[in-house]
Amino acid sequence: MENADIAKIFEEIADLLEIKNDNPFRVRSYRNAALIIGGFPESMRSIVERDEKELENIKGIGKSIHEKIVEIVKTGKCQFHDELLKELPPGLLELLEVSGIGPKKVQLLYEKLGIQSVDELENAAKKGKLRDLPHMGEKTEEKILKAIQELKSRKGRFRLSLALAYAEPLVAYLKKIPGVIQVEPAGSLRRWKDTIGDVDILVTCKKDAPVMDRFVKYPDVKEIIAKGDTKSTAILKSGLQVDVRVLDEKSFGAALQYFTGSKAHNIAIRDRAKKMGLKISEYGVFEEKTGKKVAGENEEDVYKAVGLPWIPPELRENMGEVEAAERGKLPRLVEINDIKGDLHVHSSESDGIHTLEEMVSYAMQKKYEYIAITEHSKAVGVAHGLDDERALKQIKAIDKINIQLKGFKILKGTEVDIKADGSLDHSEEVLRQLDVVVGAIHSKFNMTVDEMTDRIIKAMSTGLINIIAHPTGRIVGVREPYPVDMPKIIEAAKKYGVMLELNSYPERLDLNDSHCRLAKEIGVMVAISTDSHNRLHLDYIRYGIHTARRGWLEKDDVLNTRPLKEVLKILKRE
Ligand SMILES: [Zn+2]
Ligand SMILES: [Zn+2]
Repeated sequence: MENADIAKIFEEIADLLEIKNDNPFRVRSYRNAALIIGGFPESMRSIVERDEKELENIKGIGKSIHEKIVEIVKTGKCQFHDELLKELPPGLLELLEVSGIGPKKVQLLYEKLGIQSVDELENAAKKGKLRDLPHMGEKTEEKILKAIQELKSRKGRFRLSLALAYAEPLVAYLKKIPGVIQVEPAGSLRRWKDTIGDVDILVTCKKDAPVMDRFVKYPDVKEIIAKGDTKSTAILKSGLQVDVRVLDEKSFGAALQYFTGSKAHNIAIRDRAKKMGLKISEYGVFEEKTGKKVAGENEEDVYKAVGLPWIPPELRENMGEVEAAERGKLPRLVEINDIKGDLHVHSSESDGIHTLEEMVSYAMQKKYEYIAITEHSKAVGVAHGLDDERALKQIKAIDKINIQLKGFKILKGTEVDIKADGSLDHSEEVLRQLDVVVGAIHSKFNMTVDEMTDRIIKAMSTGLINIIAHPTGRIVGVREPYPVDMPKIIEAAKKYGVMLELNSYPERLDLNDSHCRLAKEIGVMVAISTDSHNRLHLDYIRYGIHTARRGWLEKDDVLNTRPLKEVLKILKRE
């Protein structure tokens, strides 16, 4: 049971209670607990194993929730949760996955129309039965149908970070099996796509190594679909499907290339091989006429055989990488070690968990030169956002700490809300005193494309903003981007000298890969930031880096690869 699993149980309890019209305070306490546990840097399991009493030190979690955490860690279940599930039809929770449908609406749909599942909801919307319910109309029906389409297309896919959280321990487990030589995840995981369908793991080993016997005994396996000598498939408890393949060392490179994909990339490579009189498969590259094997043991040689340099997995989408490789024009992609600092960090002053000092000390451990503290502004009430007065106070506090720091600087910043009319949630006087102003949208998503685009452009045109945070507002697998014309935004960013953030928070990854590429083409610099709310979130940078790599970004395209002095120069506003 990882923190994410525990958080999910509490989230469901909150949803179920809300559907039942239970006490709103009780609902909120479970929702809060889910939020805190989901983002907590240490696993609940290890805390409970060490000393249950330590749970009392976690701010914002009451006694009855402590007990449930212990129960879940020890038994893998929560009785209260099970009882609630029995009380209500099982399909109701699924309804919540339809974007725009909250617990209140679920209750309404269930009570008035007896709707218990997504299929029933779809039917009712198609038949025009929803429009007579309070606060609903023909438009709502259309929206719901669209949201159901979206839900169906993303079903069965895992967020990248979640797939990694389940795959990485399995890879480590496989590596420990006696006789195992190499273990390498392939597929979309190796390409760092933002969502993952299933996981392919490739293994080479000595003869008779018990790879498959051990794999099917992996404690996290729920169901074995197939077990063979060279390929086995299992479903993990999380629902993630994993294929493990045992390969001959002599064809490992070809298999790695083949199973990494993407399909479109492999077709392009295969066509190219064909023109050269070669045949390419998961076993190797062969001369068509003689059947002679010319490559296969390692991936570099596979590409070399078709006259290309090795192509980084993140680029393998057949989006021009084969042509670029052919012309020797592959980008030199940004790397994690290029990063010198983080420009979007919260502390406990707003909705972060750790103090400013704790965030700084972890950033220094990471050998960063700087971080920007960017608290929310007052419009984000739930996040305890800062008004002008508190912002000024924090500026003074940071100045004081900075005097004591050697080789490291805290940049004074804000994540200022861009209000519905495009104005900013701090006074110009305060914004002028900051080193970096990150502007963001956290509310009023319900606008037309033109309205939303104008709102952001208006904020950029003030000359007060350096960076637009999470520019499309998407939450991977949960919420589509708000309607916004990104090419127009990027053009405007260029015009006003504003940069765009690639938010590395695993649920966001916003800008996405193709927006990064567009920003690069138009000439807008990208800041890869983590939006950390606790210190371990600073490590989320890796998700941002790989997304940037998928967007073809090089070191120079990224603001925070620059040393402090240069960054300050770039951030200077006229
Ligand atoms: Zn934000
Ligand atoms: Zn933030």
